[in-house]
Amino acid sequence: MAEFSLALNDDQVQLKDWVHDFAANVVRPAAEEWDEREEFPWPIVQEAAKNGLYGFEFMAQAMLGDPTGLTMPIAMEELFWGDAGIGLSIFGSGLAAAGIAGNGTPEQLGEWVPQCYGTPDDVKLGAFCVSEPDAGSDVSSLRTRAVYDQAKDEWVLNGTKAWITNGGIANIHVVVAAVDPELKGRGQASFVIPPNTPGLSMGQKYKKHGIRASHTSEVVLDDVRIPGSCLLGGKDKLDEKLARAREAQKGVSSGKQPAMATFEATRPAVAAMAVGIARAAWEYSLDYAKERRAFGKAIIENQAIAFMLADMKTELDASRLLVWRAAWLARNGKFEAAEGSQSKLKAARTAVWITERAIQILGGYGYTREYPVERWHRDAKIMDIFEGTEQIQQLVIARAISGLRIE
Ligand SMILES: Cc1cc2nc3c(=O)[nH]c(=O)nc-3n(C[C@H](O)[C@H](O)[C@H](O)COP(=O)(O)OP(=O)(O)OC[C@H]3O[C@@H](n4cnc5c(N)ncnc54)[C@H](O)[C@@H]3O)c2cc1C
Repeated sequence: MAEFSLALNDDQVQLKDWVHDFAANVVRPAAEEWDEREEFPWPIVQEAAKNGLYGFEFMAQAMLGDPTGLTMPIAMEELFWGDAGIGLSIFGSGLAAAGIAGNGTPEQLGEWVPQCYGTPDDVKLGAFCVSEPDAGSDVSSLRTRAVYDQAKDEWVLNGTKAWITNGGIANIHVVVAAVDPELKGRGQASFVIPPNTPGLSMGQKYKKHGIRASHTSEVVLDDVRIPGSCLLGGKDKLDEKLARAREAQKGVSSGKQPAMATFEATRPAVAAMAVGIARAAWEYSLDYAKERRAFGKAIIENQAIAFMLADMKTELDASRLLVWRAAWLARNGKFEAAEGSQSKLKAARTAVWITERAIQILGGYGYTREYPVERWHRDAKIMDIFEGTEQIQQLVIARAISGLRIE
C-alpha cells in the first residue's frame, strides 16, 4: 500500500509541471476562441496527443501504473486550470476508457481502449453513454434495450441516449443498456459499439451554458447489431449476475451496476477538474485585487475583499484535500463514507462559489467576456450536474453514513 503523503514525489512534480506547461501554453490561449465557436477543438486535442497527454499510454499509466492514485487528480487540476471545455474534450474519452476498464475483461480492455484514442496522427474519441432523456440521475430506469440474438450470437440495441460527451463523433461508444428491465439497475450491461456500426447516429447537438468547446449530443441507437464479444465482461458473467439478481430481487446485493462502477472510479478525477477551475478563478481574482484601485488604494486593502480571497483559498485547499484523499482511497483502500462523492460534492460547490466570487471581485469587468472569470463561472456549473448531481452525491453519502435506504 502506498503511503499517503501531501509532499508530491518527483514523478508527480514532473507530471504537474508538464501538464501545467501544456495548459498554460496551449490550452488557455485557445480557450476563448473554442468557447465562442462551440466546436470540438480538434487541433488542441491533436496537440495533446502529440504531447502524450491524450492517449492510451497516459490513461494506462494513470489508471494502473500509479500506486498513489494521485496522477489523475494532479493532471486534471492542471488541465482544467487551463480550460474546462478543452479539458473535457481531452478527458472525455477517458470516461469511455473507464467504462471499459470497469466492466470489461483484460482482452476487451486491450482491444477497445486504444481505439478510444487512435494515434497522434489519427486521433479518435470515445463516448460513455448512460443518460437518457427520461433517465439521468435515475440510471436504474434506462429504456435502451439490448436483446440477445442467440442464432447469430449478436446483440441488438435500441434506444436514445442524451447529453453524451463526444456522442456521435466518437469512434467507440460504450453503451449501458437494459437486458432485463424488470431487474432495474441489476439487469443492465455495458456494450462496446465498434466504429461505423450501422444504426448508431448522432441526434441533436446541445447548445450549452458552459464547457462549450466540449461536444455534447444525443446518440440514437436504431437496431444496432453488434457481435456477442462486444458485451463487456462476457455472456457467462452476465448470465450469472442476472440469475443472482432474479433470486434475490428483494434487496440482496448481486454485484455492481455497470454505470455506477464507472462513476465510483471517475468521481475524484471529476472533482479535481472542479478544483482546477476554482484555482484559475482564485489566482486571477487575487492578482486583479492587488492591481485594481478604488478610493485611492488597491481593492485588496479592504478586508471585505481580502477576507473573501482568504475564504476562497481555504475552500479551494479543503476541496483539493478531499479529492486527494478520495483518489488515494480509491487506489489503496476502500471508501467507507462515500469519500469519492464527498470530494465531488465539495469541489463542485466550491468551484461554483469561487467563480461567482471572482466575478464579484472583478466587478463590471468580471461580468463581460473581456475577462475569463464569467466563462469559468459558466464552466463550473456543470460540475454540480454531471457524474451525479449535487443531490445525488448527498444521497450516496447519506446512504453510506446511515446504512439506510434514504430516498
Ligand atoms: C454537458 C453535459 C455532459 C454530459 N456528459 C454525459 C456523458 O458523457 N455520458 C452520460 O451518460 N451522461 C452525461 N451527462 C448527463 C448527466 O450525467 C445528467 O444530466 C445528470 O446525471 C443529471 O440527470 P438529469 O439531467 O436527467 O437530471 P434529473 O435526474 O432529472 O435531476 C433533476 C434535478 O432533480 C434532482 N434529483 C433527481 N433525483 C433526486 C433524488 N432522488 N433526490 C433528490 N434530488 C433528486 C437532481 O439532483 C436535479 O437537481 C452530461 C450532461 C451534461 C449537461
